[in-house]
Amino acid sequence: MSAFLQKRKAFLFNIYVIMKILKFGGTSVGSVQSIQTLLNILEGEIKNKQKPVVVLSAMSGVTNLLVAMAEGAAEGKDFTAQLAELEKRHFDVIKSLLDIQNQNPAFTRLKILFNQLEDLLQGILTLRELTPKTRDMVLSFGERCSTFMIGKIAAQRFPGAISVEATEFIKTDSSFGQAKVNMELTDLLVRGFYQENSSKLIFVTGFISANDAGQITTLGRGGSDYTAAILGAALNAEEIQIWTDVNGMMTADPRMVTKAFSLPELTYTEAMELSYFGAKVIYPPTMIPAFMKKFQS
Ligand code: ASP
Ligand code: MG
Repeated sequence: MSAFLQKRKAFLFNIYVIMKILKFGGTSVGSVQSIQTLLNILEGEIKNKQKPVVVLSAMSGVTNLLVAMAEGAAEGKDFTAQLAELEKRHFDVIKSLLDIQNQNPAFTRLKILFNQLEDLLQGILTLRELTPKTRDMVLSFGERCSTFMIGKIAAQRFPGAISVEATEFIKTDSSFGQAKVNMELTDLLVRGFYQENSSKLIFVTGFISANDAGQITTLGRGGSDYTAAILGAALNAEEIQIWTDVNGMMTADPRMVTKAFSLPELTYTEAMELSYFGAKVIYPPTMIPAFMKKFQS
């Protein structure tokens, strides 16, 4: 009996460690076509009996648009046209990719989010003041909208797909704009959430987190990569894949150096150095959780 139990434990542990994290950046969620590609990639994984945890960014350009709206409102500028543009980008995706009977509940939820955003921007406009805390709250709408929307689209194809806001389990201090993660608490909460939902295909918002008081914080611009690494380290993932619009890590920025080429392999330290010295492909702190995990075990 005890031998059986031991075997079963080992088996469960194996399931636990073979999961992967797949992170899709703004361009990979930025259009109907790229969302279809993302779903095809996931289908490939699922056919291979994998159930990755998926981390998503805001649609491309959305975070910049949110920054512009918030900063503009603080200067007294009207944001109505930009808000309408934001809504349209999401609603167009829903119209193209959600079956007609599933569209209304999705529109309703997104409309609630956009109304909250509008209230917030109206507050900034009235007060002519934008604090770091309010700014994080405004920026959070990008990932919250994209992840909810793609979760719903994915659920049509993959039963059991759910979306969740990372504020539930990524806990930070109150350094708004570049919050510092409480790794110990976060690890525990991430594992707890995953254990309760391990039968599901989980879509998680990148970039956002929460402080002890439950207020939204962000991990710094480009921080969705970091979200993927935090989850990967907590769940002992065998792999963290960062899907983006360039082919791997390159020797230089291909927009500036035409002869730049993809590097087939890098050590953690080399990747860390490249990102700290400016390679935009990975958000610098991303390597740390993965690196720590690798050398702890
Ligand atoms: N949406 C956020 C940004 O644009 C985070 C990310 O995409 O990684 O900075
Ligand atoms: Mg990025």
